[in-house]
Amino acid sequence: MMECYNIASSSKGNSTYFGTEAGGILIDAGIGPRILDTSLRAAGHRLSDIKAIFVTHEHNDHISGLRKLTERLDVPVYGSVGTLEALIEKGAVSGECELLEICRRTVTVGELTVACFPTSHDCAQGLGFRLTSAEGKTAAYCTDLGFISTDVASALTGCDFVLLESNYEQEMLQNGIYPFYLKRRIAGDRGHLSNAEAAREVVRLAKSGTRQFLLGHLSEQNNLPQLALAESADALNKAGFRIGQDVSLWVAPPRGFGKSITIGEAEVLA
Ligand SMILES: [Zn+2]
Ligand SMILES: [Zn+2]
Repeated sequence: MMECYNIASSSKGNSTYFGTEAGGILIDAGIGPRILDTSLRAAGHRLSDIKAIFVTHEHNDHISGLRKLTERLDVPVYGSVGTLEALIEKGAVSGECELLEICRRTVTVGELTVACFPTSHDCAQGLGFRLTSAEGKTAAYCTDLGFISTDVASALTGCDFVLLESNYEQEMLQNGIYPFYLKRRIAGDRGHLSNAEAAREVVRLAKSGTRQFLLGHLSEQNNLPQLALAESADALNKAGFRIGQDVSLWVAPPRGFGKSITIGEAEVLA
């Protein structure tokens, strides 16, 4: 049984645990070990359950807790060459830490096999990850991308569960306080996915068989959980999917989702 436990997901900090009974992996370490430990314990896990750390890219909201975590845990850190170089340059990992390149191969950690795919983002070399459990369940983690490229689309297709970025609401971004250059960066091809873009992808994936969606990496400035949720829920409804029956759709609040999702298991409505 593969589980996804999202600990934090926003422009302020990102960290998600995927695991089975044999332990698991952490994707991104944008929060410190203390909060991470408390959060994992709340879901019945421990820091020592983390057998490897995978980093999508070197932006602070994904690595701010990485140095301390690698000082505490003796586990490898996986990423693209560009990301690993940036981590070294930033001093974001402990000197002892084993850094391993993941592109063009798959890595097995416990009962999970992890593959990566490239994302278009304003960083050195961003990645998303696709996980397969020993029992054949599949999950994808995909945030911080300007658009859904063909590489991204094919990596997400057929997954049981997808954690997808739904970063900003177009109008909130346009009318918000951010300077023009920043608005253009966020909405650009190397920025973030809007609620509308996420909703389109969610429908496409639902049509190809994905049954569980978690919207994540919401901007605290330019989005609201209810807006992100409504956009994807409306699009799914229009395409004929009943939420809670045909598909499950959740949104991760900036901090403390506090819900563990069993991948590939239908959520039965009470
Ligand atoms: Zn980010
Ligand atoms: Zn980023």
